Amino acid sequence: MSRDQATQSGGCLCGAVRYEVHGPLRDVINCHCTMCQRLHGAFGAHSKARKANIAILQDKGLKWYATSGRARRGFCCECGSNLFWEAVGQDATGIVAGTHIFIGEKCDFYDLSDDLPKFDASSDGAFEGDHL
Ligand SMILES: [Zn+2]
Repeated sequence: MSRDQATQSGGCLCGAVRYEVHGPLRDVINCHCTMCQRLHGAFGAHSKARKANIAILQDKGLKWYATSGRARRGFCCECGSNLFWEAVGQDATGIVAGTHIFIGEKCDFYDLSDDLPKFDASSDGAFEGDHL
């Protein structure tokens, strides 16, 4: 994802939800709340854009779930991808940053600068520790 581009596109795994964002995107934040832990596995990486700048191109799979009286989350009911977060009464929608993956497999908002082992592909059962 590059915030320098005027238009960003994204969507879910299966294509039942597609969208474009015209205009600025907020910097990505990593949210560690318990709801994000349950939805994303560890933390949620979210950007944000004004509602008026988001064009939903395909909404066949889009469902909204009110996670509290203050916010709702949008996801694809076909493939389960988490896509959006909206606070009630706000003129902006949070966008799950991982849905902008058209420029490679790694997001560009973080670097892998630690000393942990790195592999070019998935383990496919070939690495130590795969079989628990
Ligand atoms: Zn989907």
